[in-house]
Amino acid sequence: MVKAAKPYICDRCKKETPFLEPCDYCSRKICRACEKSAATHSKLLHTIICRDCWGDLHKRRKFKSL
Ligand SMILES: [Zn+2]
Ligand SMILES: [Zn+2]
Repeated sequence: MVKAAKPYICDRCKKETPFLEPCDYCSRKICRACEKSAATHSKLLHTIICRDCWGDLHKRRKFKSL
């Protein structure tokens, strides 16, 4: 029997999640629920912004100008 991979803990909401992505503005690893928006630039490059950084007007403007 293969043991299931340990779930990750989201840096923002502290909940267990099977999927984490780093926020490009505060570098925390966040789950899908904490991810506010994602911009895809190419197949390999994408920018993630969390809900906290989205609330920061300066960071939000930076994200939107991408
Ligand atoms: Zn979370
Ligand atoms: Zn963030």
